[in-house]
Amino acid sequence: MLDCGEGSLGQLSRRFGREALEERLLGLKCVWISHMHADHHLGLLRVLSHRAQAARRAGREGERLTVVGPPPLSKWLRTYASFDQAQYDLVHNARLFPSNEWVGAGCREVLKGLLAEGLGVDVVTVPVKHSCRDACAVIVSDRCAEGETPWKIAYSGDTRPCQSLIDAGRGATLLIHEATLDTPLEEDAKAKQHSTTGEALGVGGRMGAYRTLLTHFSQRYPKVPPLEEVTAHGAAAVAFDFMSVDLADLPSLPSMMAPLARLADEQGWHGLYGEAAE
Ligand SMILES: [Zn+2]
Repeated sequence: MLDCGEGSLGQLSRRFGREALEERLLGLKCVWISHMHADHHLGLLRVLSHRAQAARRAGREGERLTVVGPPPLSKWLRTYASFDQAQYDLVHNARLFPSNEWVGAGCREVLKGLLAEGLGVDVVTVPVKHSCRDACAVIVSDRCAEGETPWKIAYSGDTRPCQSLIDAGRGATLLIHEATLDTPLEEDAKAKQHSTTGEALGVGGRMGAYRTLLTHFSQRYPKVPPLEEVTAHGAAAVAFDFMSVDLADLPSLPSMMAPLARLADEQGWHGLYGEAAE
């Protein structure tokens, strides 16, 4: 799970149904947190707590969840999660940087090996440019069997366009990038340390990402952000609540944009509510 904002457990329950929720929680191996803004980490306690309860009921208490996140997450979890006896192992994002002298290559390789063994994927994090200290992006790569085509997913968290993310995510199958504001609002995006639609699409292009999926739209856009630029792009789409995308369907992902744009027009979904906190 990449980021876990407030309401994540409720969203999972609505998406998969109450019956399947426990199974999904027990199947969850790792939660990665990009930074300490509430809309990215506040739902973690409930997910941990409900997962621990589900594990007790299923007699699977020993199966610990790996949580990867910024250093302040340790104290936050120690302060609040102790009441629920949640079972997790915490890894700091900085320990998974592509190169980081103070961590030590040996330690980094051991950690990566453990994650790869437990999750079946390679995980690399990179520092990004956001208004929150220690903000990171993540790149998750498949460790597929010989002869299969490996996939690679890059997720930006919250950031301005960032070269370290472009370098680490080079050739990604899918880039999931924040696009908080529409392209004309670049000055606002700079001030708030977010990206515009145009900037996010530009990152996808420079990275050589096969598909770019935009997310984290400002509350200025009550239903959907302006869709024209993404629709015209041809290799991108916008994400929305409860969206599910099978990687096998990525080739046709951009083709959903034209009908979505038409639906938005018909329903009158566009329109600004004015400034809102991001
Ligand atoms: Zn943020």
